[in-house]
Amino acid sequence: MNDRIRSRALFLFVATATLAGCSAGDDGTREPVALDTPQVEAAIAAITPEAIEHHMSVLADDSLQGRAPGTPGYAGGAGYAEEQLRSLGLAPAGENGAWRQAVPLRQSTVVEDESSMSVWTPIGTSELTYDVDFYLGADPLRATVDIETAPVMFVGFGVSAPALGYDDYAGADVEGKVVMFLSGAPASFPSNERAYYSSGATKTEEALRRGAVGTMTFWAPNDPRLRWDVNAARAKRGAFAWLDEAGRPNRSDEQLSGSASLNHSAVASLFRGAHTSVEDAIAAAEAGTPQAFELATRVSMRTTTRHEDVESWNVVAKLEGSDPELRDEYVTYVAHVDHFGVGVEVDGDDIYNGAHDNASGTSIVLEIARAYTSLPTPPRRSVLFLIVTAEEWGLLGSDYFVQNPTVPRSSLVANFSLDMPFLFHPLRDIVPYGAEHSSMGRSVTAAAEHMGLAIGPDPIPEQVLFIRSDHFSFIRQGIPALFIKSGFETGDERDGGAINTAYRSNVYHTPFDEMGQDFDFGAGADHARVNFLTGYIIAQETARPSWNMGDFFGGLFGGM
Ligand SMILES: [Zn+2]
Repeated sequence: MNDRIRSRALFLFVATATLAGCSAGDDGTREPVALDTPQVEAAIAAITPEAIEHHMSVLADDSLQGRAPGTPGYAGGAGYAEEQLRSLGLAPAGENGAWRQAVPLRQSTVVEDESSMSVWTPIGTSELTYDVDFYLGADPLRATVDIETAPVMFVGFGVSAPALGYDDYAGADVEGKVVMFLSGAPASFPSNERAYYSSGATKTEEALRRGAVGTMTFWAPNDPRLRWDVNAARAKRGAFAWLDEAGRPNRSDEQLSGSASLNHSAVASLFRGAHTSVEDAIAAAEAGTPQAFELATRVSMRTTTRHEDVESWNVVAKLEGSDPELRDEYVTYVAHVDHFGVGVEVDGDDIYNGAHDNASGTSIVLEIARAYTSLPTPPRRSVLFLIVTAEEWGLLGSDYFVQNPTVPRSSLVANFSLDMPFLFHPLRDIVPYGAEHSSMGRSVTAAAEHMGLAIGPDPIPEQVLFIRSDHFSFIRQGIPALFIKSGFETGDERDGGAINTAYRSNVYHTPFDEMGQDFDFGAGADHARVNFLTGYIIAQETARPSWNMGDFFGGLFGGM
């Protein structure tokens, strides 16, 4: 361990100790859970790198065609996971005692040659070019929606966070207008709060609440998440929503009549004649200055959408707890097995295998399940293993599960999400997203200590990881959750940060995310172990996990 890591670990230890000390309903009386027992050691030893490699190579094989919801490839991937969970002796916990929970989906795809966008100025209207200047979000409800020469309000990041002393909308009236905002949220926010306010869903909700009729988003030129070609190609696959009993898509709102993603050429057109240049507006946002002003231009958008209903499903398996009092409560593990299927070809390859995203996380959950079933006595609480669909399209399978759970929602006490934990070097330090919000921080600290792993703060807050996987579906329902990722320590001369950046810019969400990469399956086994141990502690403790007193997410979603 080098000095940099030691000081990071100390930082988190102090923060965790301070927050956990004042956590509600958690007065420090949690009994210590022994991890150095032969039973736990044997469970940990049941997890092997070879098994993770094997699962991953099955799930990422070309024959599964990238596991897109509604395809035979998805059925193959989810079927494999179901078979593995069954063979471990787990019980089915889906609908009506089956392994599956049906997740009805609607796929909505923009019909590009019947869709358009134009920018009006007092001296004329200019037509923008699809894919080059912009692409549109599909409308889940209607075949065609129009916005006609609507006024445009630039609203900075489009963030209203009074509790954090920040409001782009202060004094702005956006009723009947299209709001235009920059991707991201102020860098001064704590990492996970920044992630929450960066979410497109959060921003759209805020804009609609204030009466806007459309949204337009763009990335600053230096934003690491700006990959125009990859993002535009991904948009061609359409958007998915889950359907409720009445057949209504989740998060749909008739008020929203258009949503666009803009390239810089379109941003320049829209800023024509504005009293502030786009460069100055970006600089102000990056300096943390809230802003909103009306542009001199107006915008028209026509979105034509093709809809197709698709049947997909989650796989749900259960290990029943051993304590008659606690077995009706569940510690949950989730991994998405879906990926992007077959899409835009890159270098002669059109299969988006998703080896790391997320054959890896699915494989790790299967091995966590193996560890639990290797215990001679199950833990006191029950454990649920969820293999979910349509994460790549908005955390849909997990959101469907928590909104339509197959066990009472109040019995879901904690969640762990395994998604692309970063398997390109040995696991030396972990970044447990969510640890600072609940008593789960203390549990993961104990598990990491047991394994000799350091704990660090988020090294890449600009990637807003806290909202980007299935644990966030649980957080939104007030259920404490952890999303444990690898830190950047490699244990050798390699620079973990550079490896991470290279993966995110060159491989992530492309056909190159396949098995031929230089995976470290031992790191996969260690991820399984630290998630198992942390969950084991929680499953054994008498008190259920609790949000820390005054926590932002506990307050927002947990009624604290
Ligand atoms: Zn992904």
